Amino acid sequence: MISNHGHLLLKSPHPESPPLNLYHLIQQVSPHAPMPIILRFTHLIKDSLQRLYTAFESAIQAANYQNGYVGVYPLKVNHQHQVVEAICRYGETYGHGFEVGTKAELNIALAYAHQGSLIIVNGYKDPTLIRLALRATQLGMVPILVIESLYEVPLIIAISKELGIKPRLGIRVKLATKPSGHWQQTGGIRSVFGLTALQIQSVYTQLKEAHLLDCLELVHFHFGSQLPMLSDIITAVTEACHFYVALVQQGVPLRMMDIGGGLAVDYMGHQTSHSMSKNYTLTEFTTSMLGTITAIMNRYTIPHPLLISEFGRATVAASSALIFNVLDVNQQQVATTLNPMTDNPHPLVNTLWQLANEPNPMSDSTRYQEALSLRDQVYQLFRQGDATLADRTMAETAVLSIVNQLKQDGVPLNDALQREMADVYYGNFSIFQSLPDVWAIDQLFPVIPIQQLHESPTINAIVSDITCDCDGKMDQFIGQSGIRSTLPLHPISSDTPYYLGVFLIGAYQETLGDLHNLFGDPHVVSIDMDHPNDRPHITHGDTVRDVIQYCRYDSQDLFNRFNQRLRQAIDHQQLSKQSAQHLMQLYAHTFVDYTYNRPYKPIASG
Ligand SMILES: *Cc1c(COP(=O)(O)O)cnc(C)c1O
Repeated sequence: MISNHGHLLLKSPHPESPPLNLYHLIQQVSPHAPMPIILRFTHLIKDSLQRLYTAFESAIQAANYQNGYVGVYPLKVNHQHQVVEAICRYGETYGHGFEVGTKAELNIALAYAHQGSLIIVNGYKDPTLIRLALRATQLGMVPILVIESLYEVPLIIAISKELGIKPRLGIRVKLATKPSGHWQQTGGIRSVFGLTALQIQSVYTQLKEAHLLDCLELVHFHFGSQLPMLSDIITAVTEACHFYVALVQQGVPLRMMDIGGGLAVDYMGHQTSHSMSKNYTLTEFTTSMLGTITAIMNRYTIPHPLLISEFGRATVAASSALIFNVLDVNQQQVATTLNPMTDNPHPLVNTLWQLANEPNPMSDSTRYQEALSLRDQVYQLFRQGDATLADRTMAETAVLSIVNQLKQDGVPLNDALQREMADVYYGNFSIFQSLPDVWAIDQLFPVIPIQQLHESPTINAIVSDITCDCDGKMDQFIGQSGIRSTLPLHPISSDTPYYLGVFLIGAYQETLGDLHNLFGDPHVVSIDMDHPNDRPHITHGDTVRDVIQYCRYDSQDLFNRFNQRLRQAIDHQQLSKQSAQHLMQLYAHTFVDYTYNRPYKPIASG
């Protein structure tokens, strides 16, 4: 939604309440939370949980399924406190649980899980984790240790004997089905996770000998993340169901089937089988899922298991957005003056110049390709010392002039040309900290300006961050139907800030992000529109001191070293005492400053 003034609006969950104006919100919080910020909409977590449970509930009824559904939240998708709190608050009515893979995650889950809700413990387990999980069952908590590898089995058996506590166990099966999409390697028989049929038989034998076969309650599989094709998912579930059936027929008292994560987010919004989209709706997903499981269980007259999912991405992706200001623009399409820069240009430059300035029978695109080739030859000559700086400037000017003519003639610029001519918008953020998947796996997120949406964008841009890394950029964007290499943006002006929003970033980006160039966590502004009168809540991001300390520096030691330097300078009369004092103050002030760029404000004295 867009306001009359071209501001981006977020719909309220209450039809009678007004929408939230994101531009005004940013202005309101900016004195306390300067750019960049993460906006966290916790009511959207409530919304996604509600949709999930409603969809499963209808599918259960439609399939006449004789058991229930419950979800668990995989902590690795977003560990942040506000997210986990929202999951707890809004998941309580459904008995929503947690999925954990490490000791640290188990500790969070043991503190936050509702009494009696499931804690699915995946991942490689060490003795401490196993002891903690077993003892927690005495509290009435329900940690289920999912056996992922053979080496865990004797460990679990030994610790269970040592403590005299029976474990609650699941088993992760390795499927032969391979998913399409980005995470192809996660599934399939070559996957690093899960147990083969042969290994499952070994677990069966070991548990039986230890009289713990009755503890094995759950079959688990995780087919991969962001699964774009429903048919793949159904093939995987079918395979997993046959594992379930076979184990029950062997006398294992299974009662839960855990279908893992993988429910996709349609980042592109196109409903296709592209890896950043998905070709199914939630209802189609739950209906096929329940239909498939019911049919297989009925065929073998096996009681229907409690169905468990571990959907992470689909639960939290929508709840966060990154907002940053544009600091500067590197323009490509400067208005070109067509005066030759030298009276005596290199002959190649002359040819190029004529190509740009004289009528020519070539088609526009041939002319452009020809110009690029000539320009590259001039670059080569420049490298050899055979062309001057003026030659090089003329060559670049000629190419720009041709592009400008193409644009004036209304020739649509193809994607390659747009990329070549794109302006670079420098955003006050770090890709590596806030959008690591853009760098790591070419993830696409919707990017849009927060303001001026009532004006047509006139510039094709790519977006760069402020790290000193040439990979710190976004040059793939979501277009009307596919991917485009530039983003349409407005010209920026020096007197009003220009904000860009990157949406659907709530899954995987935050803890995966790193401190490249020592840019730290951004400030987080959380809003719960379910409670329209609540004020936005600000959690401060990292200061310079915070990020320096992650690298094991002692800030006092840094102070001492710098102070030493100042003393020496005073001793050598390079610096007055007063200047040294100012410098020290500035050094100290920087320690407590935000790691991102601040706007220039003149200071009165000093
Ligand atoms: C990562 C992970 C999930 C979450 O997957 P999504 O694609 O985010 O739903 C669930 N289960 C396991 C075992 C995982 O490793």
